[in-house]
Formats: sequence, C-alpha cells, structure tokens
Amino acid sequence: MIELKNVSKVYRNNHIALSNINLTIKKGEFVFVVGPSGAGKSTIIKLLMKEVEPTNGEIYVNGMKLTELKRKEVPYFRRNLGVVFQDFRLLQDRTIFENVAFAMEIIEASSREIKKRVPQMLTLVGLSSKANQYPHQLSGGEQQRVAIARALANNPSILICDEPTGNLDPDTSWEIMKIIDDINKSGTTVIMATHARDIVDKMKKRVVAIEKGVIVRDQQRGVYGYED
Ligand code: ADP
Ligand code: ADP
Repeated sequence: MIELKNVSKVYRNNHIALSNINLTIKKGEFVFVVGPSGAGKSTIIKLLMKEVEPTNGEIYVNGMKLTELKRKEVPYFRRNLGVVFQDFRLLQDRTIFENVAFAMEIIEASSREIKKRVPQMLTLVGLSSKANQYPHQLSGGEQQRVAIARALANNPSILICDEPTGNLDPDTSWEIMKIIDDINKSGTTVIMATHARDIVDKMKKRVVAIEKGVIVRDQQRGVYGYED
C-alpha cells in the first residue's frame, strides 16, 4: 500500500512541482499516471523511490514512513520497488544475464540464488536465448524486457514504470504492456507514468491525471483524456 498525504514538492528554484497531493494506491492495483510534460509525474515517481524529499507532507510505502527512514534503511526500503525507465538504463559492458544479476548482487544475494533466479526472470520476459548477448545486440523492445527482468529480480511488491514504452514502436509497446499487465495480474502493484494514449484507453485501468502539480482526475477504468 502506498499513501501520499498532503504532499508538496518545491524545487530549489521555487518551482512548485507538486502541491498538496493526496493519493492512495492499494496493494495489487494498476495505476496510470498521465498529464502534460512538466505536470509532476516524474516527481511523484522520484518521491516514491526516495530520490527526492517532499517539501511538505507524508509518504508511506508498505508501512514505512519514507521521510523518517534512516539513510542506512533506504537500500532495504528500495527492495520493495522495481523501476523501469524510458531509456532502459542497462549496463552496456555487461551481458543480459549480468545486467539482471547486478540487481541481485547489490542486495548481496548468493551466487546460488542468482544462478537460479536470473534464468527464471529471463524466461518470464521471453529472453532466455539472449542471456549471453550484450544490450547493443538487442532491439529496443528486448532491452526493455531485460530492464523489466532486472526490476523484478528481487521480487519487489511494486513495479514503477516511467514512460516504459516511450522509445518503442506501437507493436513493441504492446508486447511490453502485456508483460507489465501479467506482472500486475500476478499480484505486483504497478504504477506507470505514460503518454501512450492508445495503451491507457484500451487497458481500462485506474488513471490519475496530474496538471501543474495537482491531481485533476482520478478515474477507475479511466481514459487518457489528452490529445497529444
Ligand atoms: P513530468 O514528469 O510530468 O514531466 P516533472 O515531475 O519532471 O514533470 O516536473 C514537474 C515540474 O518540476 C516541472 O516544471 C519541472 O521543470 C520542475 N522540476 C523537475 N525537476 C526539477 C529539479 N530538479 N529542479 C527544479 N525544477 C524541477
Ligand atoms: P469522472 O466524472 O469520470 O470522474 P472527470 O469529471 O474527472 O471524470 O472528467 C470527465 C471527463 O473529462 C473525463 O472523461 C476525462 O477524460 C476528461 N478530463 C478530465 N480532466 C481532464 C483534463 N485535465 N484534461 C483533459 N481531459 C480531462
């Protein structure tokens, strides 16, 4: 469960990115976050990752109050989250296997666990045959599937996706969307910021729309609602 209570974020230049946001996301929900560029979508994601701190308000994730976490507790907290970005962010000098393994090495998983888990994750995203290749040898859609496998390697309860289909063509976007939907159906909470209108309109999930730092719409089985 995720809860933002009266959350505001003012960046150093006095730019108000979020103002008094209240948002509750239950375990297992799928939520699209939509809105124009600069609306505050990425700021919400960064707050949830504890990458930036709110100026005001409280944020709870799985019972942990983020603003009260000690520095040494942050890595432990982040195990609750898997994150996927528009630009994949794979390590170019490591193989597909090593990219997924890297997420597990960070939390000091045993090599036995890593050898068992990484192939499972690559199978989940349909990439077992590419384990020994390097990111540049893969298509964009395949690279994003690696990023998803990496995000899920430590079995997080929440998958955060920031424009995951932003660099992909429509068919490939749908393949990625299908994987993300399956992950959600298996119980993982999914929060996805996106400009992909067709996907939002067809998926009929909860839609939270943000404009100028304010939630202007929160619909179950919602629509994208913008023309861009
Ligand atoms: P979105 O993801 O919806 O495009 P962002 O959350 O990135 O929006 O940005 C919200 C607002 O905050 C924008 O006006 C942006 O310019 C501003 N902003 C984002 N990050 C910073 C930062 N690090 N410093 C100052 N202003 C920022
Ligand atoms: P509901 O009545 O379903 O809760 P709203 O009253 O929030 O929905 O919005 C009514 C309709 O207006 C929605 O279908 C939505 O697509 C559209 N809409 C709402 N807010 C915006 C917005 N900021 N930009 C574009 N369309 C919007």
